Amino acid sequence: MSRSLMNRAAEPALLSAGGVLVAAAAGGGRGGGHLNRSAALVRALRKAGAEAWLYPAGPEGPLPGVDPGLVISAPGDREWALVVLDCFRCSPEEVEGWKARGPVLGLDEGRSRRSCDFLVDLLPGLPGREQPNLASPLLLPLPDKRRPAFPESGYRKILISFGAEDPGTVTVKAALALRGSPGDALGDVSLTAVLGPLRRNAPEDRKLLDQAGITAAEGVLGSSFRESLADYDLVITHFGVTAFEALYARVPVLLLNPGPCHERLARRGGIPSAGTGKRGLERLAPMVRESVQLTGQSRAAAARWGLDGEKSSLAALLLGARPRVHRACPFCASSGSRPVIGRFPGRTYRRCSCGGIYLDRLDPPPVEYGGDYFFSAYQKQYGRTYLEDFPGLQRIGEKRLDRIAAVLGKNSPGRRLLDIGCAYGPFLAAAKERGFAVQGMDPARDAAAYVSERLNIPVRRGFFPESAPRVPLTSLPSGT
Ligand SMILES: [Zn+2]
Repeated sequence: MSRSLMNRAAEPALLSAGGVLVAAAAGGGRGGGHLNRSAALVRALRKAGAEAWLYPAGPEGPLPGVDPGLVISAPGDREWALVVLDCFRCSPEEVEGWKARGPVLGLDEGRSRRSCDFLVDLLPGLPGREQPNLASPLLLPLPDKRRPAFPESGYRKILISFGAEDPGTVTVKAALALRGSPGDALGDVSLTAVLGPLRRNAPEDRKLLDQAGITAAEGVLGSSFRESLADYDLVITHFGVTAFEALYARVPVLLLNPGPCHERLARRGGIPSAGTGKRGLERLAPMVRESVQLTGQSRAAAARWGLDGEKSSLAALLLGARPRVHRACPFCASSGSRPVIGRFPGRTYRRCSCGGIYLDRLDPPPVEYGGDYFFSAYQKQYGRTYLEDFPGLQRIGEKRLDRIAAVLGKNSPGRRLLDIGCAYGPFLAAAKERGFAVQGMDPARDAAAYVSERLNIPVRRGFFPESAPRVPLTSLPSGT
């Protein structure tokens, strides 16, 4: 048994061994949403017993609404079991720097997608960019409190919130645009405008809202804000976390976006939007008056992103993870990141210039296959035990060997064959009969013992590539 295998077998099932560092965008120009949801993730991971820290990445400044006990001021020299990046637009250099400290999982990463070991998109992104390993708004920290149903029409309470920073400085303009005259459909509506902690022009804003009879809500962020959404009949915001939280709470949403990028995302997400800039402000009130239509569009958007279902948990997803990544190609040992050729839930495939394709996993399979895997579990799936199936599997192996022989050429001398995941060895047995020098590899103890003792074929117990024979694959005979 190889040493790496033994080490892995002794690992606890979770990240608690190495700790999770959540690096979140913070400071001016980067909004408050990333910081808040990262803080929520750290809290949830800690609640489940994991060691987790929030690292505010960016210029030093106030961290509104963040519990200082969650924060680590320097990531230190240590290696982390997982580094979660919630930075929106990390530079490739930043990502490479983090990769030296542990496996890197990017959340909604917009710039350095290719560099991240794993990508999870909580917010739907634009088509054409690199696909993530997993995408689901249901992994956002969504509210517990939901309305029983979307309000059908006639909004009475409207919330206006453009986040902590209000990058387009539209909060007051939007609120005033909705302040209808008496007798108008919007005349009696109760309006609440959030004045986020990172916005500019604070004193004037408050005065203007007071004069117009609009409630100003200050410093409301995080979970209490999230849970308050269901108290409203409509939420006006820009494309981002709040919009998805509101849709999940069964509250209609109308977007007013700070720029064309947000607007494209809104359109792709099917979320009702008034548009951007002055034009968007002008369209706001007329669209709010058409409440039946707005509610219908919001309900459809919620259904489109699965937000009519039950939320799941990013923390729970990460708690089950035991990430394993390669910082060097397992075939030629050259270092550096290689291009991603495919991402699937929990798996990232990369291709090296040597021709090797290798796999990084967020959640590798257990080292110990239960002793019953090839018996009762196999029988359940295939109707007989693996050993009962042995002759049939050997015949299938012979057909495969016909094809392999055709590729190698009939009389290629010194043909060697390594069967990774050989189980009880039917393919090895077939290859041995054809004159191959064979070797097997499998993590299951009983299977490895069977191959060695009954078939008299050399076998290694373990996973590829850690337990592979130390022969560079590039030096295997080509067979020509
Ligand atoms: Zn390589």
